Amino acid sequence: MEKDQLLTRRRALLAGAAALGAAGVASALVPGTGKRAAPESASAAGAPPARRPLRPSEYRLSPLTGYGPPPTTPGRTPVRREPLLRVSGRGRTMVLTFDDGPDPRYTPPILDTLARYEVRAMFFVCGGMAADHPNLLARMADEGHVVGNHTWSHPLLTDLGRHRIRSEMERTSDVIEKAYGARPEWFRAPYGAWNRAAFQLGAELGMEPLAWTVDTLDWTTPGTRTIVGRVEDGAAPGVVVLSHDAGGERSQSVRALRRYLPALLDSGYHVTVPRRQYV
Ligand SMILES: [Zn+2]
Repeated sequence: MEKDQLLTRRRALLAGAAALGAAGVASALVPGTGKRAAPESASAAGAPPARRPLRPSEYRLSPLTGYGPPPTTPGRTPVRREPLLRVSGRGRTMVLTFDDGPDPRYTPPILDTLARYEVRAMFFVCGGMAADHPNLLARMADEGHVVGNHTWSHPLLTDLGRHRIRSEMERTSDVIEKAYGARPEWFRAPYGAWNRAAFQLGAELGMEPLAWTVDTLDWTTPGTRTIVGRVEDGAAPGVVVLSHDAGGERSQSVRALRRYLPALLDSGYHVTVPRRQYV
């Protein structure tokens, strides 16, 4: 196929995914108070979430329709003062996010696991990595995942001037559009370090800021079992989980997903991606 045809096909697939509507998508958003400037490592929420064991599902049969996110007008993304930390919606919805990729060593096996269980996730990619591996973004599009903007080179935005921040974000949205077939609607600041310019420029570029609720700290390579435990202990409706598919040795992250994903599903969690709704 010609490139344009490929893009058209991906856009059609994306549109199809969007048309699945609330049945497959978490949509409501809950602003939080993430302010820490540690690597996406420390919890953006500050205090760690309360430990809570997985329990048998009492929600599996709950209707998934009726989510009520604050709708926004197309082209007018609100300028937030803090990132969103979780999603809300009826039932046990959780969102898995993978940052810093794509990396051909770790992203494909993560995609394989997501495909095996037929769930969708979010990938906050860096523009530089995306430019090197556009085929992985194409695969994300084909398989219904959501790609977000994680800047071009993963700098600490709070050290940069407005012009550099814009460049980091805009170039990344451009490369995502080219490889994925649509411009990103979400962004995440490297290290969870947000500032006003990042919120303003993100909104100008049509993106909502999404942080996370549960940090697996997988980048510290604490062991697969520890990563699995952090996800399962942090599991709760609306939780957004942070992991990484690049930026270092990530085989623990790959192996952990193979264990916690089926456990979440067995516990009745609906693992999916958030969806922005427009009026
Ligand atoms: Zn990152």
